[in-house]
Amino acid sequence: MAGCGMKVTCPYCSSAAELIGEHPAGAWVCTGEPTCDAYCGADKHGRPIGTLANADLRRARAAAHMAIARLPIRLKAARRRIAKELNIALTDCHVDRLTEAQCWRVVEICNREKKAA
Ligand SMILES: [Zn+2]
Repeated sequence: MAGCGMKVTCPYCSSAAELIGEHPAGAWVCTGEPTCDAYCGADKHGRPIGTLANADLRRARAAAHMAIARLPIRLKAARRRIAKELNIALTDCHVDRLTEAQCWRVVEICNREKKAA
């Protein structure tokens, strides 16, 4: 099975995560449930997309995704601007890798950009 042999650890409770399902519905789910509900999507090779997220982080990432999608500029330009503002490398500038605080910063940045446009 794709993703076999990969070790993914939950950043919240340090439990092992396991790959459930297959592309495009695959997900890495923390085995620390039910106390921990962290998970993230898996790509077509079974690799985790970004890092495992709990409910709060999932909400923050969804908000960041939406804020970026609503920008009147191209995604590439938006990513460059956000990476610069967050002071992170462009290669790390993926919403699925950002922390909760960074996601809310992205929402702020996008709101400001939208007003300026
Ligand atoms: Zn966990």
